[in-house]
Amino acid sequence: MIEDLGDWRRTHLSSEISPKLEGREVVVCGWVQRIRQLGKLMFIVLRDREGTLQVTVHRNKVKPTLFEKLKKLKNEYVIAVKGIVQASKEAPKGVEILPTEAKILNITNPPLPLDPTGKVPADLDTRLDARIIDLRRPKTFAIFKIRHVLLQSIREFFVKNGFIEVNTPKIIATATEGGTELFPVSYFDRVAYLAQSPQLYKEELTAVFEKVFEIGPVFRAEEHRTTRHLAELIMIDIEEAFATAEDVMRTLEELTIYVFQKLKTECAVELKTLERTLEIPKTPFPRYTYDEILKMLEKDGIVIPWGEDLPTPALRKIGEHLKGPYFITDWPTKSKPFYIKPRNDNPEVCEAFDFMWSWLELASGGTRIHNKELLIERLKNQGLNPESFKYHLQTFDWGMPPHAGFGLGLARLLMIICGVNNIRECVLFPRDIDRLTP
Ligand code: ATP
Ligand code: MG
Repeated sequence: MIEDLGDWRRTHLSSEISPKLEGREVVVCGWVQRIRQLGKLMFIVLRDREGTLQVTVHRNKVKPTLFEKLKKLKNEYVIAVKGIVQASKEAPKGVEILPTEAKILNITNPPLPLDPTGKVPADLDTRLDARIIDLRRPKTFAIFKIRHVLLQSIREFFVKNGFIEVNTPKIIATATEGGTELFPVSYFDRVAYLAQSPQLYKEELTAVFEKVFEIGPVFRAEEHRTTRHLAELIMIDIEEAFATAEDVMRTLEELTIYVFQKLKTECAVELKTLERTLEIPKTPFPRYTYDEILKMLEKDGIVIPWGEDLPTPALRKIGEHLKGPYFITDWPTKSKPFYIKPRNDNPEVCEAFDFMWSWLELASGGTRIHNKELLIERLKNQGLNPESFKYHLQTFDWGMPPHAGFGLGLARLLMIICGVNNIRECVLFPRDIDRLTP
């Protein structure tokens, strides 16, 4: 029953079929979304990645063998249809295909675990287990089309602004920021680790390329179950020589505006599918110091000891007050990684920032230490062994410029753009403490 594609080739995507093609012979390929039979008429809704198309079969006008073949179709069968385009007032989009031949390229094995049209609701785990069907649902599809344009525009932005794209190793010998959250891997006769960040490499590369960016995977053994943590994620990292935290915060603002504008024009359809209107935020984004945030929380009865990171309930509370993008600056030095530069006027506080959107952290960054002695001192203060960082430290003897940068989580940014609450919605095949398949 399954036929070969043979020499059939698609001539048009569904979006390219219009009444203007009236009378043309075309080949369309895709999946059967729905079949309706009304006496001598059969309507097949064919779906491809661009949308749907109506194939109208008149029993009396097609070969009996073709009608018999098409009668066997079931939802999600993969088919190719050769036929003539006809303008039609009744058909959706004013056009239909009258088939002359068809091939059934594949069948399905019912029942399907999910409704690919998205009309029947399903919980996230069921959807992720059958992700390939889930991805056909218009809302899920829209998220990944937006992701595609988002990534492209991020790259475009950095290239336009003079950044050079790099890729740093993902198999590493020592932890970037200490031994926690790392996945060990067996590496020939040794133990290696999956990189949790390109931090040290990207800093080193500023001593050559000055402005670098990397878009790549990082791995974190996050043991907690939250709606914003994954074990494998795509991070957008930049590092820039002769720059400070304030400079890269402005870069983040400009990047946000740039990608939002792009998405508004290039993903209007997908945003509509997700019922999103993207407001372009005004710059500069508000800046709050860590101390100001603690005071804000105290008013709500949440007391955070100075120096601690902000736990989820505190972030949720702040998110009730601050809805859009903002920065938290002037973090306690001890709450941030060793490579962040303490302030000259008050070393208890450092030049780090978090880029937030309501309750959600999207990026962390800061001015880095470029003085080797200070870096070694900070390593020791954080309980790390400078010997483990000797390859990194030696580059500081070879002309390390002052530099700053940030790491931005792609899926978290996508959550904000698409208005979804769970980060797993924004990753094709998410990895977390419970999920290693599919
Ligand atoms: P969080 O405090 O939210 O756990 P973090 O401060 O540990 O994040 P950073 O090391 O600052 O994370 O990483 C930079 C960015 O990468 C974060 O702001 C976030 O957008 C993203 N990110 C970090 N860890 C994860 C994760 N486990 N899953 C998804 N995104 C992450
Ligand atoms: Mg952070």
